[in-house]
Amino acid sequence: MPVYGYCILHPDGPILVDTGVGFGNELIDQLYNPQRERLGDVLWRCGVEASEVVAVVNSHLHFDHCGQNPSLFGGPAAFLAQVAEYESVTTDRYYTDASWALAPERQRRAVRGDERLADGVTILATPGHTAGHQSVLVEAGDRRVVIGAQMVWDADELAAEVASSANVDPDPELRRAAVDSIRRIKALNPDVIHLSHCGAFAP
Ligand SMILES: [Zn+2]
Repeated sequence: MPVYGYCILHPDGPILVDTGVGFGNELIDQLYNPQRERLGDVLWRCGVEASEVVAVVNSHLHFDHCGQNPSLFGGPAAFLAQVAEYESVTTDRYYTDASWALAPERQRRAVRGDERLADGVTILATPGHTAGHQSVLVEAGDRRVVIGAQMVWDADELAAEVASSANVDPDPELRRAAVDSIRRIKALNPDVIHLSHCGAFAP
C-alpha cells in the first residue's frame, strides 16, 4: 500500500503533512519491508530544500506518518500534532516509534482542536482513526483542498460515510467521531480530498 505525504508550497515556506516510514527500526523493516525514499530527495525533486521547511503537520503519530520527521530535527521546522497523539505516544509503547514521533521539545507543538497555521492553511481536528487525528484545509484563490490523511482508508468510505474496521478501532466513541469527521470535511465542499493510503478523491 502507498503512504503519501504532502508538501504545501506556501509563501511563508514549505509546509509538510506527514513524512512516511522512517529508517532504522528493525522490527518495522522485518514486518513491513517498506520501500522508502529519502524525504530530502523527494523534496529536492519538488524544488524544495529540506532546510526551508517551516512546519510539519503530522496527521497522527503512527510510524508510517512521522517516520522521517527526524531528518528535520535540529532545523527550523515546527512539528505539530494533537495533544491526544502525544499522550498516546507517551502512554503506549507500542503506539509508534517514539524516536520518530517526538521532535526535540524546542520544535514540538501540541495542537488542541483546530488551529490556523498560516494564511490559507488551517489544521482541523478529525478524530476517528486515532483520537488525535488531524487534517489540513488549504484555501487558495477559489480552490479549497483538504489533506484528509487517514481520516478514512479510501474514497469509498468517504462516499458511504462509514467508519470501516480497517481504519477505526471498534471503540464506539471513535466510530462516531470518525463519521462526524467525514461529514465535517465533506460539508466544507472541498474540490479535492487527499488521503494517506489512497489517491486523491474529488467529492
Ligand atoms: Zn495510522
